Amino acid sequence: MESEIEILASKLRGKIVIPSDTDYNDSRRVYNGMIDKHPRLIVMCMDVADVIASVNFGRENSLLVAIRGGGHNGGGLGVCDDGLVIDLSGIKFVRVDTSDNTVRVGGGNLWGEVDHATHPFGLAIPAGIISTTGVGGLTLGGGVGHLSRKYGLTIDNLLEADMVLADGSFVTVSAKQNSDLFWAIRGGGGNFGIVTSFKFQAHKVKTVFGGPTLWPIEKTEEIMKWYQDFISNAPDELNGFIATLIIPGAPFPEHLHNKQFCGIVWCYTGDMAKAKEAFKPILAMNPLFEHVGEMPYPSVQTLFDGLFPHGMQWYWRADFFNELGPELGKQHLKFGSKIPTPLSQMHLYPISGAASRVGAEDTAWAYRDANYCGVIVGVDPDPANTDKITTWCKEYWEALHPYSSGGAYSNFMMDEGQERVQASYKHNYNRLTKIKKQYDPDNLFRVNQNIKPN
Ligand SMILES: Cc1cc2nc3c(=O)[nH]c(=O)nc-3n(C[C@H](O)[C@H](O)[C@H](O)COP(=O)(O)OP(=O)(O)OC[C@H]3O[C@@H](n4cnc5c(N)ncnc54)[C@H](O)[C@@H]3O)c2cc1C
Repeated sequence: MESEIEILASKLRGKIVIPSDTDYNDSRRVYNGMIDKHPRLIVMCMDVADVIASVNFGRENSLLVAIRGGGHNGGGLGVCDDGLVIDLSGIKFVRVDTSDNTVRVGGGNLWGEVDHATHPFGLAIPAGIISTTGVGGLTLGGGVGHLSRKYGLTIDNLLEADMVLADGSFVTVSAKQNSDLFWAIRGGGGNFGIVTSFKFQAHKVKTVFGGPTLWPIEKTEEIMKWYQDFISNAPDELNGFIATLIIPGAPFPEHLHNKQFCGIVWCYTGDMAKAKEAFKPILAMNPLFEHVGEMPYPSVQTLFDGLFPHGMQWYWRADFFNELGPELGKQHLKFGSKIPTPLSQMHLYPISGAASRVGAEDTAWAYRDANYCGVIVGVDPDPANTDKITTWCKEYWEALHPYSSGGAYSNFMMDEGQERVQASYKHNYNRLTKIKKQYDPDNLFRVNQNIKPN
């Protein structure tokens, strides 16, 4: 293999990292500190040519191939044992086209870099709620965040993508070109090829009004019931995800530290002159703590970055829910009251407004009719607490799952087996397997929530 690696190196602008290199350990690390995989080589790609050479190398040498965008995936799908990691972190660029408010983004960019580049133009692309997440994985899985109710999921704003396929060929996909692939990558993850560049529709979002409101955990059932009614009647401009959480410390006031809460994080993108009026019914619910106000969009996107640095232990479980009925409220109270570590949380993101007006077969993302996208994360810096966070997360999930819509958002899952992957794509799974067979018949791209060729 050594001589093959030397030949590959001669074709690249980027470099290859192998186990004997001093930067090997840093290069193989991903965001989730629970993941400890040892690839045979990592190719730090700098351009499309590097990606093509790497894909051909992986295929010709029958290597397991992992694609790494931002490296944030909970299940550690950006790295693999004893295989090839195609790292895209060197393929970064953001170009804003003000003639039509579209934005070109590299396959290896992080969302914070995109927000930084679009904000001076008063533009934003719907993404997630943490700025260190990769554009690649988040987009290809769907993309749920503060702007979902107003402008849809991230994939609803994807116009075009450049891709390297399993046979090493390069294609551009859009509604007009290779439209089957364009359909599949909007939710189907990295199953179909490596995206080297994305083109998004951006929207006029510069200043938002938002932030957290907190109630004592004992009020969880009441607040969830109120939230369900409120958010389903709210204007699309108002987004809020509900959570059970602990306030770990600063910057929150001391009297809140290390206590459990039911919280909602809001983001309003309407007319700022009307924001206070829009928040009146929220504040009428008498939160114990509120910190809502006007802020630049990149600030709401980075509110939680400081709490969640790289390298902590993360255990994930997820499901969609059609409703938040009283039985669910009871379970949230029960498990929210025994959150095991200060950073462990449960979130429910609304899939309503614009995100719910896209047809359930229009993209690979199948749960447009589920009103809530739920996720439970056990998080802690100390590996000694791994069992504690994992047990809580699994038990919480098991208590909620009977009330769920059946499947989960693929970006919130760990390695949970084929049935769960199928449940997450529901009615779209069969079509996905056929497209997979056409473009990746040997399942070269299988370090993902895998759609089997059929
Ligand atoms: C702290 C945190 C907060 C999060 N918040 C949100 C949120 O608000 N909303 C939301 O929707 N999700 C959220 N997520 C989940 C996130 O969408 C997934 O973890 C996603 O997989 C991350 O993408 P990545 O590129 O960073 O991951 P990676 O680990 O690099 O890759 C994940 C998967 O995507 C594939 N992939 C990545 N880039 C490419 C590419 N360019 N071409 C082809 N395949 C590619 C990889 O093969 C792999 O299977 C969050 C995750 C974390 C850790």
